[in-house]
Amino acid sequence: MADDTLPLQGHIIPVRTVQETNPNFEFAKAYVVEIIQKYASQVIKVLDTAYPKDPNQPLTHIRRFVKADFLPDHLKTLVGRQDTSDRLIDVPTIFVLIPPPVSDIDQLRALITPFVPARRLTRSINATGTGEEKEPTIPHDANENTAIETPSTFPILHTSIPIHPALSIQQAETWSRTNWPTSYNAAAARAIIAPPPKTLTDIQADIAPNAGLYLGLARSVAREAKALGRGRGIGVVVVDHAMTSATGDMNIRNANARHGVVAVAGDARYCARGIDKNALKGDGSYQAECEGGPEFHAIMRAVEMIAGQRRGDGEVSTDSIDSGRTITHTTPALTPLESHYLKKMREVTSPPAPVESTPLAEAAAGILPRSAGGYLCTDLDMYITHEPCLTCSMAMLLSRFRAITFPRRGRLVTGGLASEPVPGLETGERENYYGLHWRKELNWRAVCFEFVEDMDDGRPGFLQDDGVEAVGEYHA
Ligand SMILES: [Zn+2]
Repeated sequence: MADDTLPLQGHIIPVRTVQETNPNFEFAKAYVVEIIQKYASQVIKVLDTAYPKDPNQPLTHIRRFVKADFLPDHLKTLVGRQDTSDRLIDVPTIFVLIPPPVSDIDQLRALITPFVPARRLTRSINATGTGEEKEPTIPHDANENTAIETPSTFPILHTSIPIHPALSIQQAETWSRTNWPTSYNAAAARAIIAPPPKTLTDIQADIAPNAGLYLGLARSVAREAKALGRGRGIGVVVVDHAMTSATGDMNIRNANARHGVVAVAGDARYCARGIDKNALKGDGSYQAECEGGPEFHAIMRAVEMIAGQRRGDGEVSTDSIDSGRTITHTTPALTPLESHYLKKMREVTSPPAPVESTPLAEAAAGILPRSAGGYLCTDLDMYITHEPCLTCSMAMLLSRFRAITFPRRGRLVTGGLASEPVPGLETGERENYYGLHWRKELNWRAVCFEFVEDMDDGRPGFLQDDGVEAVGEYHA
């Protein structure tokens, strides 16, 4: 059965992140003060104590100190007009950037005062004979990036700084002129918005050789789910790449070597309690009343199977069903394919790895139980016949998968992973591209690939009904 599975022919390409496809740069207000150069390190100490750095915004791309000649244009103009003739001593100075958050400008002024160049006080005598300090004057600039805080003894300038690194040298140069001197680092730039290049190429090298094979198996799982009437023709295969590496056979062609598969799961939405399969129109259209919830989707079922193995408590029965009768339990029984792979994994997993285990032995030992440090789905890879729905995409992230791959033909309008239309193709109905696999605001990120089949004519969607669910408006 599984061994008759035909691998898909084609290649994988990384799915870009939404920040790569549609960069949306954010800026924040920051202050700039001219200080005596030799106090630079003291100033940093004082500022960092008063305003602890936000670990989520390291701002390592922003230069902390800048000489007058390298100020951005609008500040250079302002400073150039400044009258420095009242300085007591002509000492070398430098400009320090004070990034957000700064809540109290008076406090900032008090902190910085000991380090700014001393000025001669010019007193103007008014009619009552009281003197008042004359402010050093800098003309106000209309540029909205620039204004001068009400100075008491020295000017505090401000500008806006990019809170994320530049994506190109050109962008860094532009920002350096218009906002604040900004450095460019290719790896840092991508880490925020996209997988770091080395991470991406390493994982891609792992995934590429066998992606077609695993997706072929996922299709078999999908066909089974549909043939048994358990759910839509959607299937998922979960692989431990460390196990395939441990076999030394990256060119897997038979079931024995295929033991990198730790679980397979088909869709089972028609097995949900209260679903009347007889009400199905049979045309594949979306019928809310006949679709069990996401817990019956293939990804959620695979995650539950792995959780069961991690627990090692036998909560997931490997008993399979032979017919498509509706199962009224919360967890449907397993299909023959699901049961086959789960049993095989059980055999590999027990007996437990020897105490003095080598990394290779550990890798070959199957899913590590929780007691041996196994945690969620960390480091596992997923192959699925269709682009998963938003809920399953989030479940994939929360389970901490390493990577997910789906065929470009399996893109769905309800999918959560694609980040842009298929290049060169008008896709009218789909409006939302979430790219959930790699979002800077989420606390876990996975690498995502689309499998482009050799037979693809650029058009997404399964063309014929070969037992796999035709592309439609349902959730996978
Ligand atoms: Zn789903």
